[in-house]
Amino acid sequence: MSLTPRPGVLDVEPYVGGEAAIAGRNRVIRLASNENPLGASAHARAAYEAAAQELHRYPDGASAELRRALGALHDLDPARIVCGAGSDELIGLLVRAYAGPGDEVLYSAHGFLMYNIAAKTAGATPVTAREANLTADVDALLAKVSDRTRLLFLANPNNPTGTYLPAEELRRLHAALPPEVLLVIDAAYAEYVTAPDYEDGRALVAARDNVVMTRTFSKIYGLAALRLGWAYCPPAVAEVLNRVRAPFNVTRTAQVAGLAAVADQDHVARSRDHNETWRAWLMENLRGLGVEVTPSLGNFLLIQFTDVPGRTAPDALAALKEEGVLLRGMAAYGLPDCLRMTVGTEAENRAAVEALRRFLA
Ligand SMILES: *Cc1c(COP(=O)(O)O)cnc(C)c1O
Repeated sequence: MSLTPRPGVLDVEPYVGGEAAIAGRNRVIRLASNENPLGASAHARAAYEAAAQELHRYPDGASAELRRALGALHDLDPARIVCGAGSDELIGLLVRAYAGPGDEVLYSAHGFLMYNIAAKTAGATPVTAREANLTADVDALLAKVSDRTRLLFLANPNNPTGTYLPAEELRRLHAALPPEVLLVIDAAYAEYVTAPDYEDGRALVAARDNVVMTRTFSKIYGLAALRLGWAYCPPAVAEVLNRVRAPFNVTRTAQVAGLAAVADQDHVARSRDHNETWRAWLMENLRGLGVEVTPSLGNFLLIQFTDVPGRTAPDALAALKEEGVLLRGMAAYGLPDCLRMTVGTEAENRAAVEALRRFLA
């Protein structure tokens, strides 16, 4: 007998993050992981440094102060908020708590990779529904709901496509779901969205007992290194998450930095404004180079290349890397002819466009 993990575990393709370094180069332009080019709030960094004095203390296992601050900021009941080590942890916990072997976890064809990994890790079966124009399709998702479906994940807006479902479509999706299917709305990029017909999902969570919204500090708050996310849940789901999470799943440093970051909404506004400006600039300038770019509500753009030899997405990825610019290949998302580019600083954006211009010339 040899050691054998649970069913599904060996089917997991380990998650490969965006590249962060290039051998032999010390200045690298990192546009592969949707990080905030302005960094974290100065207040958050100061709070993190001050917390070094308390490294011997356990964190508050309930993240109570942070949940209160999030509740006040977003007008939510803190008792229904659960914090996690990144929203990735919460995604994994939700799947493990509600699905196992024989159950199905549904998401759209180019949905965030963690849904697939979390499903397989739990021994459940990932099921995908086709998209229309790189956008989640409510009817296609509903057509894939079976009596084995336990969770439906929807990133809104979605990574890596940047597309979204308007509030009305989100409600139509929820209304047609059986009550025993948990709809998880992953709103990792909500703070970036300015579209008037967008809703992050909190109203649905407040009104229904089978909807969860997840959020993260990794994107607009610029705290990806600390691993901090949260979920807004129906009371029964919050109780389940509080049973299955580790007692000290969120570090003290993450809690204090998160608290300071929440208090600095000016930094959030600056980050959103920067993103609006440079996402539009990138859109225009990239299209000017003759590549297709999908309109995005997030802090990144999906760029489509041709299949002309020498001009493909993998060719572009390699050519940019030669110039010290890191984008993200999209083969793992079923989009082998695309690259994803994070909106960077002004200098980074200009350098990336110039590098692409040379590649396409
Ligand atoms: C980046 C991202 C997350 C956030 O993950 P963390 O674990 O909080 O860093 C979640 N969902 C989507 C769709 C993302 O793009």
